[in-house]
Amino acid sequence: MVENQGVCDSCGQSSQGLKRISRGGKIKVCFCCNGWVRMSLRRTRRVPAWIRPDPNLSQEALVEVREKFLLMRDRHGRERWAERRMVFEMGFPYLGPLNDTAWGLALSVLELESFTTSNSLPNLRTADVTREFAKLEEIGVMHLPSNPQLRKQIAHLLRGDFGLSNKRRFVTTLFIWLIGEDEFLARDPEAWALSFQFLQEVVHDLGERASFIDDSIRVTGSSGNIYRISPRPHPPYYVVAREVEHQRQPICIDPLNAHTVVFGDILVNLVLALYDDQISARHIDTLARHVFGRRRPQHGGLYERNNIEHLWRRALGNMPPGEAPPAEALFQQWHRVVDRFQTNLADWPIEEEEEE
Ligand SMILES: [Zn+2]
Repeated sequence: MVENQGVCDSCGQSSQGLKRISRGGKIKVCFCCNGWVRMSLRRTRRVPAWIRPDPNLSQEALVEVREKFLLMRDRHGRERWAERRMVFEMGFPYLGPLNDTAWGLALSVLELESFTTSNSLPNLRTADVTREFAKLEEIGVMHLPSNPQLRKQIAHLLRGDFGLSNKRRFVTTLFIWLIGEDEFLARDPEAWALSFQFLQEVVHDLGERASFIDDSIRVTGSSGNIYRISPRPHPPYYVVAREVEHQRQPICIDPLNAHTVVFGDILVNLVLALYDDQISARHIDTLARHVFGRRRPQHGGLYERNNIEHLWRRALGNMPPGEAPPAEALFQQWHRVVDRFQTNLADWPIEEEEEE
């Protein structure tokens, strides 16, 4: 369904030809955001509407809760929480507990408010507890505790027996466990909007060599190769392919530490890396094959560099505008961005070991 004019709910820009997505509560998106938002909502469709953050919580407070769980996962991963590697294997991120011990830790992290009531807590029968746990199972909580005390406590929480504020806190936590912050539903609206605005600016600035087409981004590299970045249901949520005649050859380019970056910014970095593919390919092995392949491109170096340093600087976010950095420093920064894209899934375990 197309509307003529309005503001895009993703990037906040006014635009013509907005598309309406009924899933997720009638969201209107522009042609740039449509594919990415639609795919994100498709990924999170199994999470019902009652699993939403406490409306009284600020964006900062939400980030804080998420950080706590990320920290627990990274410190005590093994069996208790899903490790990052596992997230890839499952095909979706899950930040919740994977055993009873982790459940205990999770509840302590919630810092539930002490709750006093003149009436004592209702005495829950096994059937009551089972009914509450069926809800958790349905929404995709991957481990349900077996300890009877723990089960009772959680059932009370879900029923609201410990008060509305504690219930909301718990539901907020469920939301955080089930929906990654790189999803549209869990986004920081301002940061998300800025990143998609920036993506549009970058694509516009690259002129004919970049465009939004069919819900994907088309980029022509300095080598003359043509690439497509399209939404994908599984991490890393995009797929890069090179267009060769009428075929698309997928290229595996995965981001490292992407959870520290807003999703639109990942796309910006990808667009810039592919635009400058002759340089990026020196650091991205899987791309190198396509850029420096058997056959040297006949028109190698055909495209002039369209002075994109200022875009890189903004993508990196830490260089004052108007101040030309020495080429070497710029290259270092650039290198860091390109390195964000890990090229091979097999490298993940090594990467994790290095971090410990
Ligand atoms: Zn938009």
